[in-house]
Amino acid sequence: MNYLCDKCNKTYEISPLRYKCDCGNALTLAKESHICPNPQVPAAMSLWRYREALPIEVDTDIVTLGEGMTPLVPLDVNAPEHFVKLDYLCPTGSYKDRGASVLLTHLKALGVEAVVEDSSGNAGAAIAAYSARAGIHCTIYCPESTSQGKLRQISAYGAELKLVPGNRMATTEAVKRAAETTCYASHNWHPFFLEGTKTLAYEIVEQLGWRAPTHVICPVGFGSIYLGLFIGFQELQTQGIIVNTPRLLGVQPDVCCPIYNAYVNKTASITRMAQTGKTLAEGTTAELPIRGQMILDGIATTDGAFTTVDNTDIKIGLEILSAKGIYVEPTSAVVVKGYQKFQETGIISTGDLVVSILTGIGLKASF
Ligand SMILES: [Zn+2]
Repeated sequence: MNYLCDKCNKTYEISPLRYKCDCGNALTLAKESHICPNPQVPAAMSLWRYREALPIEVDTDIVTLGEGMTPLVPLDVNAPEHFVKLDYLCPTGSYKDRGASVLLTHLKALGVEAVVEDSSGNAGAAIAAYSARAGIHCTIYCPESTSQGKLRQISAYGAELKLVPGNRMATTEAVKRAAETTCYASHNWHPFFLEGTKTLAYEIVEQLGWRAPTHVICPVGFGSIYLGLFIGFQELQTQGIIVNTPRLLGVQPDVCCPIYNAYVNKTASITRMAQTGKTLAEGTTAELPIRGQMILDGIATTDGAFTTVDNTDIKIGLEILSAKGIYVEPTSAVVVKGYQKFQETGIISTGDLVVSILTGIGLKASF
């Protein structure tokens, strides 16, 4: 197993300090084809039930809090063709625990003793929690403006907090300097993080009785769910477990939607879009996603589509979900109006089996 750069085809040995290619591109994993998840074998009720499909070589020391195997339920009991995946029920309150579990297991096996990460939200909490579980010292760089509730959760796990004055970019620059000497457990750069989020695809297929939905909808910022779904469904298809990959549908906030722009304008690459205003979906404001080319591949390969929502759409989404007993953060609620918009444009038709991913819990959101 090696790191591979899709852009310049360079490969690297896996090491704690390497998180991107010398050319600046994000890395993927060059690895052997996986053994399929076997429904006949009694397995853990966590994402580690797909142990054989995860690129972890040593079986001891798996860093887990029981993440994954989250409920898949119809949004409306009278409309069983639209399911929601309640992934906000992971241990720290977001789907990011999937990536953190696999990433910290890998880093622990490498003998890493300290990590750094930059985040203003759920990823920081997930990396802090799983570092605590792994006995790895963790430092999280956050913008000074980060809400108190989120900082409290990160520091409760024993992580060291570094508050950086200025905007999000200043925090990124600060962590990059730290990453020269300490392992960067980045949820955006590190390919092992996507190996955790890909288990969403496995679970959806298993929970639907080993069949694929026709469409999956998720919020997209840097795209760690979208790409995890893309990897997971492609592996299931390659192994003959499903016939067709679902169409992967992404929803972005209208004030920061570089992928949507590339999709509607049919451009060959994604151009940076400076955020034009405030959005309630603060977890998805990525002006230029790191793995832009891979996201465009996902759209092309799965006949995917993108749409945008504004703050009114998000509030309506939250109301609809709450009325069904589902309490999520605003970033998650984008999928509700996203579903309606994909119906209106004919991308989703009557009778299609759709799964929407609900990513983060409402309890720690401040709005
Ligand atoms: Zn490269």
